[in-house]
Amino acid sequence: MNPPAIAIDGPAASGKSTVAKLIAKELGYTFINTGAMYRAVTWYTLQQGISPTDTEAVKGFLPTIPLSFGKDGSTSTVMCQGRVLNEELTTPETNQYVSTIAAIPEVRALLVEKQREYNTAEPVVMEGRDIGTVVFPNTPFKYFVTASEEVRAARRAAQGLTDSIAERDRKDSARACAPLTQAEDATLVDTSDLTIEQVVAQVVADIRAKLEANA
Ligand code: C5P
Repeated sequence: MNPPAIAIDGPAASGKSTVAKLIAKELGYTFINTGAMYRAVTWYTLQQGISPTDTEAVKGFLPTIPLSFGKDGSTSTVMCQGRVLNEELTTPETNQYVSTIAAIPEVRALLVEKQREYNTAEPVVMEGRDIGTVVFPNTPFKYFVTASEEVRAARRAAQGLTDSIAERDRKDSARACAPLTQAEDATLVDTSDLTIEQVVAQVVADIRAKLEANA
C-alpha cells in the first residue's frame, strides 16, 4: 500500500495552493503542485513556436519532452534541461493557454503517471483539479477547496497576475477528459469567509482523525 495521499482540488485562485502547502508543512508531507506540471508543458509548447491548439503537434513532441519532475526539499519542482522553471509558469501567455494544453488526454496521461510516482515512496499533499477523481480515486483524504468568484478574482488581482480565472474554470470544467469537479466523497471547504489558518486547522484535524481511525 502507498503512503497517504492528500488530494486538494478546486477552481483557480480558491486558495488551495496556499492551504495545501501549509497542510504539507504541518504534516511533514511533500507538497506537489500539479498545475505547475501542466503549465510547464504549456510553456514548452509556446517556446517551440507550436500553437497549443495544434493537438497533433503537441502529441508529437510529448515522448521526448525535455521536462523532468523532481523536488526541492519537500516541494515539487519542474525542470527543463536541468533548469528549474519559475516565472515562466505564470506568464500571461501560459495562463491563457494552459487549459487548452490540459484538455489533451495524452498530456494528462503522461502527467498523471508522474504525479502517482511521487506517492510511491512518501506521503504527499497534492493539489490540482482531478487529484481526488483521477490521480488518487481511492484515497480517503479528499478536499474540494473553493471560494466565491469575487473573492477569487480579488485574490488573483492582489497577486498582480493577468489571469482570466473564470474562463479557465469554464474550460477546465467543460473538458471531456478529467474535468474539474468535486469528487462525490470529497469534503467541501469554502474559504470565502475563513482565514488561511482556520482552513488549515480544519483540514489537518480531519486528516489526523482519519489517520487515527485507519491506524
Ligand atoms: O493550479 P493552477 O491554476 O496553476 O493550474 C493551471 C491549469 O492547469 C488549470 O487551469 C488547469 O487547466 C490545469 N490543471 C489541470 N489538472 C490539474 C492541475 C492543473 O488540468 N490537476
